[in-house]
Amino acid sequence: MSLGLQVVAIDGPSGSGKSTLAKGLARALGWRHLNTGAMYRAVTLAFLRSAVDLDSAGQVESALASLELRTDAEERVFLGDEDVSAEIRGPDVEALVSAVSAIPAVRSRLVELQREEARNGPLVAEGRDMTSVVFPDARWRFYLDASVRERAARRKGDFDKAGRDEALPSVEAELERRDALDSSRAHSPLRLVAGVERIDSTALDAQGVLALVLAKIQEDPA
Ligand code: C5P
Repeated sequence: MSLGLQVVAIDGPSGSGKSTLAKGLARALGWRHLNTGAMYRAVTLAFLRSAVDLDSAGQVESALASLELRTDAEERVFLGDEDVSAEIRGPDVEALVSAVSAIPAVRSRLVELQREEARNGPLVAEGRDMTSVVFPDARWRFYLDASVRERAARRKGDFDKAGRDEALPSVEAELERRDALDSSRAHSPLRLVAGVERIDSTALDAQGVLALVLAKIQEDPA
């Protein structure tokens, strides 16, 4: 039996199904779900609202100092007392989030919060740097992937449900733009690191991915 942090760490590009998988795993295991993408989106919204100049280290520092970011067990995200869970999914946040999350000061602040969450008990944590930087010693680490075509189709399905009207080619272009930025940044880029199991979900539905990953966790318990 090997030791390791009681964390399932999941990384992968946009639209790979990380949130659906993480939610399902958290429910099945009775653990908490930490959606770190939602945290970066909330910081981006806070920066947009106070018109922070991303090139000004001083403005970034002071915006981070006054940031009151919180997530709850129902997966809502708050800035102060305001529930911003819906607003962080909008196009303005989406256009800027990769630039905000490339700022080292932003990452150090959020990584601190994320590690604090893991000290409060077992966790299913999803994002871009969970397996590589934040929880490299997690007991289970997965990299969830799918073809860009499939990821764009899934993301369009989410948009349709939310009443956001976007054509498939533009959804695909936006995913590719964000993935390129997230994978090429200097600080904590999205990447598949050694020892992390890659799962290709292109031909699987959400239940299939959940069953596969749960089986892997149960095959190799803590
Ligand atoms: O997962 P989601 O698509 O909501 O993430 C939004 C953005 O947040 C990503 O495109 C990426 O720029 C950033 N992010 C990150 N590190 C994480 C999670 C998300 O840089 N751990």
